[in-house]
Amino acid sequence: MPDGPVLEASELTKIFRLPRTAANPLRQQTLRAVDGVSMQLFAGATAALVGQSGSGKSTLVRLLSQLEHPTSGTIRINGEEVSASWGRSYRRYTEQVQIVLQDPYASLNPGFRVGRSVRRPLEIHKVHKTRAEREAAVRQLLEQVKLTPPEFYASKFPHELSGGQRQRVAIARSLAVNPKVLLADEPVSMLDVSVKVEILRVLNECRENLGLALLYVTHDIASARWCADTISVMYAGQIVESGPAEEVTQRARHPYTQLLIRSTPDPASGQPANGAKPEDGVTQGSAPETVGCRFRANCPSAMAKCAADEPPVVPLSAGQWVRCWLYAPENGPPAG
Ligand code: ADP
Ligand code: MG
Repeated sequence: MPDGPVLEASELTKIFRLPRTAANPLRQQTLRAVDGVSMQLFAGATAALVGQSGSGKSTLVRLLSQLEHPTSGTIRINGEEVSASWGRSYRRYTEQVQIVLQDPYASLNPGFRVGRSVRRPLEIHKVHKTRAEREAAVRQLLEQVKLTPPEFYASKFPHELSGGQRQRVAIARSLAVNPKVLLADEPVSMLDVSVKVEILRVLNECRENLGLALLYVTHDIASARWCADTISVMYAGQIVESGPAEEVTQRARHPYTQLLIRSTPDPASGQPANGAKPEDGVTQGSAPETVGCRFRANCPSAMAKCAADEPPVVPLSAGQWVRCWLYAPENGPPAG
């Protein structure tokens, strides 16, 4: 299947049981952290997953990496459904699908020198036969993420490096076992602005050189536009809009996507464009609506039927789609 997706998620759902509260000890509360999400990742392409904190991005990444089991839905890799969560096929899966997390400090062993951190997956997965081959591979991996000269960085401990350098080490380590898919969960959120761009460049180069399918998870839609081919916008566990990055950012249709774009800070002033504040219309952490549209309480265009029925998925042109009643055929042709 050369042209098919490398990784394909169909209708993934994850329901968490929440602890019983003192106020309500008998009722089991649940949370649909990921609700019917479908997604395709292609070799050599970057897909961005954009949404505010708590929208379910990390849970989706954990499902895609098999760190967590979905309540329902399927994952396919190279067209084959993933079933085992142990044994050889599971190990093969974890080789092919690697993660880079937000905080490299937390994901690197502070007692290991960089060389050892990068070498370990090569040893565990028995990628090479000899020690010399492994050492050469470590050098090449460090060069790939621009930590040069590699011998210099291989001898450092994580605390001797900057945040950006640590994230490069984490990326090098994730590439050690020659993965096909890289899931980067807010990889630059903790870094300074100038370093963010460098790390995104490194990820982009690795994707290009190695033909990786890259999932770039972020709350910053501006950075997604800059580095991704496609953007999916997540709100309260659901993808509400998806399509080519240029379409989604230039012709955003979903009121939530429009809000994200309006509240993106202007790089020059640091102030949101049009004076909108990031939290405008978004009640962080509030329980989303469970009947009808989940965004309706915060939506400036909400209509009666948004409260009554789940919004339909409406296909637009150029591969873009939106989950919103405003664009339903009975409301007339999509605007724009
Ligand atoms: P994001 O990465 O977009 O910030 P998360 O996937 O981390 O969002 O979280 C989505 C929602 O699921 C949040 O409300 C979070 O509190 C909840 N959640 C995440 N993990 C668990 C868990 N293990 N048990 C219960 N709730 C969880
Ligand atoms: Mg997260």
